[in-house]
Amino acid sequence: MPSNDVASSSSAAGARRSATPVPVTVARGDGVGPEIMDATLRILEAAGARIAVEEIEIGEKVYLRGVSAGIEPSAWDSLRRTRVFLKAPITTPQGKGYKSLNVTARKSLGLFANVRPCETYSPFIPTAFPGMDVVIIRENEEDTYGGIEHRQTPEVTQCLKLITRPGSERLIRYAFEYARRHGRKKVSCFTKDNIMKMTDGMFHRIFREVAAEHPEIEAEHKIIDIGSALLAQDPRRFDVVVLPNLYGDILSDIAAQLAGSVGMAGSANIGEHCAMFEAIHGSAPDIAGKGIANPSGLLHAAILMLDHIGQPETATMIENAWLKTIEDGVVTGDVCAPERRANAVGTRAFTDAVIERLGMTPETLPARVVEEEANESPLPPPAVRLARPTKELVGVDVFLDWDEADRDPSVLGKRLEQHASGDITLRMITNRGVKVYPEGLPETFCTDHWRCRFVGAGGGPIDHARVIALLTRLHEAGFDFIKTEHLYTFDGEIGYSLGQGE
Ligand code: NAD
Repeated sequence: MPSNDVASSSSAAGARRSATPVPVTVARGDGVGPEIMDATLRILEAAGARIAVEEIEIGEKVYLRGVSAGIEPSAWDSLRRTRVFLKAPITTPQGKGYKSLNVTARKSLGLFANVRPCETYSPFIPTAFPGMDVVIIRENEEDTYGGIEHRQTPEVTQCLKLITRPGSERLIRYAFEYARRHGRKKVSCFTKDNIMKMTDGMFHRIFREVAAEHPEIEAEHKIIDIGSALLAQDPRRFDVVVLPNLYGDILSDIAAQLAGSVGMAGSANIGEHCAMFEAIHGSAPDIAGKGIANPSGLLHAAILMLDHIGQPETATMIENAWLKTIEDGVVTGDVCAPERRANAVGTRAFTDAVIERLGMTPETLPARVVEEEANESPLPPPAVRLARPTKELVGVDVFLDWDEADRDPSVLGKRLEQHASGDITLRMITNRGVKVYPEGLPETFCTDHWRCRFVGAGGGPIDHARVIALLTRLHEAGFDFIKTEHLYTFDGEIGYSLGQGE
């Protein structure tokens, strides 16, 4: 799979403005994919987009040939050469063993930012929130999407949530730069850092740091639950919203749904080396081949792509023709007001209508004007490496699978204390994060998964040899340790969450 000899974004930037066609990798996908891709490419061609299409095959047929990622190794060569991917939706076969192509593409190509503009086309397409215009910028590679999961005991499974400083920082910098270029006034950040103080806490802290460099843009942070509730109540109070991966995945679909236009929305996946553009909807197998699919989501994605490759004039011409088509009441059935459904058109008629209107501008919907900087995607900031802090080992959390003595924590605690030596002591035991030893409550429900925290005596540092000696003693005493997490300080700052009473 792709590695480090992918050409850099600076040469991608160099391709901007070029009169020669820009190579673009195109995949027609599954279900309605081929129909809407055909429609989109016809409009791009009629508008004079300077692109040279390289087609690759992805999706169901490739999966069913036994390629678990849904994309042949040879297709990566095209992606790495063109660095621009216009992708139709695919069908992921049901069943185990098939990997999400989207997740693979995002991670393999380093597409760290997912940008999803969610706007309304009121009064022509029904929405509860006329005027809504929110851009969701979601982290695309990290968080629980590493897919690092384990079953550790008969009762307990775990998914690792990894939030990195460079990953968060470049996403947040991208969000502010996007806001600046697009004349947006506010960037909101949603996290759950009241609970996840280390992971979400870091994301929030970096947001504050980057916000301080952009005093001209209002910055606000909200806890994800209230933030989402406010967005669902009235999305018009938000402008740009930046989030970690999982929250962003959920919220971006909610935002698109609130805009009333899931079939209209495209998204951009931006990386330092490559970018991928797609509709947000799936392959719609229920309507495939019927000629009624709405090509707007993929067309929207293609408009974002033209901006990205430095063809904002063509993007603007297509967007204005598209808006004028909608304004003229030419829409597909999925976005048609119920009372006008009889007038809905099919994919081909909608496409022809957009092509006929190239060069026209909408009268009621806001026409787009060419503003080169505003329309181009900001160049992705590189990941920043910080100087390494002084890191000191001060303890270890040993996780046990223990199902004895009716799961009585005081029995476990007393046995473990026998194995702590003079220089390492048992600080506490928790079960599902609740302290159960010492001084636990008998009412606390306990599973077979125990976190046992050992620290250096007197709070001093320890070394790996002491941890190994402790594990050896536990092993010899018959304990099943299922994992360990080291407790570190970084320049004296605690790098782990504290238990109750610590
Ligand atoms: P879907 O988005 O394909 O369909 C949901 C509903 O929206 C259906 O009723 C469908 O007819 C309608 N719809 C979707 N796109 C439309 C369009 N362009 N015009 C008119 N109506 C449209 O979601 P689903 O049914 O949950 O998923 C179907 C398949 O798509 C699954 O295999 C899923 O894995 C895949 N999927 C792929 C992507 C992707 O490739 N990016 C994204 C989501 C789902």
